[in-house]
Amino acid sequence: MSDPSGKLRFMESSVVVDGGGGAGLAAAIRSLTGLMGELAGVVGRSSEAADGVGRLDDHDPLHDLAESCLDGLGVVARIEAAAAAVKVHFLATHAEATAAMEPPPETPYESSAREMSVVAEVACALTIGEGPASMLLQEAHALTTSLPTALNALQAGIISWRHAQIMVDETSGLDLAGVTALEAHFLDPEAPNAARGASAGELVPGRFRRKVRAWRECHHPESLEMRHARSVEDRRMECSPDRDGMAWVSLYMAADKACAIWNKSSALARGLQGPDEPRTLTQLRADVAAKLLLGETGQFAGSGPSHKADVLVTVPVFSLLGFTDEPADLDNYGPIPASMARRIVTEGAGCFYRVLVDPRDGAPLEIGRTSYRLPESLKRWLRMRDGKCTFPGCSNPSQDNEADHLAAWEHGGTTAIHNLGQLCPKHHRLKHRSGWSPSPATRNEPPGWVSPTGRQYNAEQLDREPTLWPTGCLPGEASALETSVVDYLVASSPAA
Ligand SMILES: [Zn+2]
Repeated sequence: MSDPSGKLRFMESSVVVDGGGGAGLAAAIRSLTGLMGELAGVVGRSSEAADGVGRLDDHDPLHDLAESCLDGLGVVARIEAAAAAVKVHFLATHAEATAAMEPPPETPYESSAREMSVVAEVACALTIGEGPASMLLQEAHALTTSLPTALNALQAGIISWRHAQIMVDETSGLDLAGVTALEAHFLDPEAPNAARGASAGELVPGRFRRKVRAWRECHHPESLEMRHARSVEDRRMECSPDRDGMAWVSLYMAADKACAIWNKSSALARGLQGPDEPRTLTQLRADVAAKLLLGETGQFAGSGPSHKADVLVTVPVFSLLGFTDEPADLDNYGPIPASMARRIVTEGAGCFYRVLVDPRDGAPLEIGRTSYRLPESLKRWLRMRDGKCTFPGCSNPSQDNEADHLAAWEHGGTTAIHNLGQLCPKHHRLKHRSGWSPSPATRNEPPGWVSPTGRQYNAEQLDREPTLWPTGCLPGEASALETSVVDYLVASSPAA
């Protein structure tokens, strides 16, 4: 700035920079320094332990060394998060300060030229491309302006940079009230209807994104019905070439059909598995889907196990009756429009099992009537409760998983929902061959896990929403309403 009067004029806006940006930056640096101190403590302990290797006393120094390395990893992860928060403050404050030093842009061209200059400056300082630099600046802006709780959690090392990026990404397009509600749901345990089970920072980023996206689908200011109606117009098939003489064929289509296609292909592929079948399940699934699309279905006809696709759809009762338009939930996919769920139920498609949920707390009320024999119903209850493999971070969908007795049958464990947990084949083997052990489950909560070193990992829970009540119909102690709803469904059920 060469013009001194201009500088004075814009000093006012830099007050914001000193008040918010400066103080925020100082706090972020303090948090990082504190964590560095914590790390030094861990390192001190681990070198003491290393010195003790080979010494004979009550303590096992190797055990102490291994322990302190795991502790150190935990602190390093928090340092990375705190460092990311410092970076966010540097980026946002630099952008604000640069803007405050200049007079307001007179043309859109001037404004975009300035923006490009800031991006280029950041890109050079960090030795990254301009695309990623521009993305970083946008993320820093979003975190410092509309996601204060997420930024604080990042700064304290409670969530990682990946988690913060997911929050920014999944809140884009939401209004400020929506953003604040999403933040409170996932990061404030005191909030009404706060997320249950493992906290945001305890979920691996992939699982966290699924939860955030599901929440967003249900709370988007524009209803899922309307967004779905618009998007379904864009359904299409695409073919894109890949290396080594391969190509991808993909279908963009309504979620219920997509899940049914996937599950049917999986079921047929499983039916083909056997000792003489060299192809893997993944290869079989692709071969089966190709044959179905090309009309070569002959080999799947005939007897054998029924190859119906098995999809669980959870429908809030009032939504099913058409009183509300609350989204339903498709197992291993997420929220779907109420109209899609109603169609699935009324058409009585054999491949969908409908699940009614309790209007009071969103817990499963009753699971499909097509089969009520205990083992099958219990298996489906388990699928509903766990949704996926219960091992921390595992996304394996319920269809592929095994029901495991948490307390072994031979040690007196019962076949009851509170003693069962879903495990994918890989984690099932891990449980039986290592020191990983599940903590108790309940009727509506999957088990958590304790690692061989004694670290406790909370259960990830399906984030069910309490059902929306239609106006003029209040939840009461008596379940007369519930009874009449169930009676209605029994009367209208094709199986009744
Ligand atoms: Zn697993």
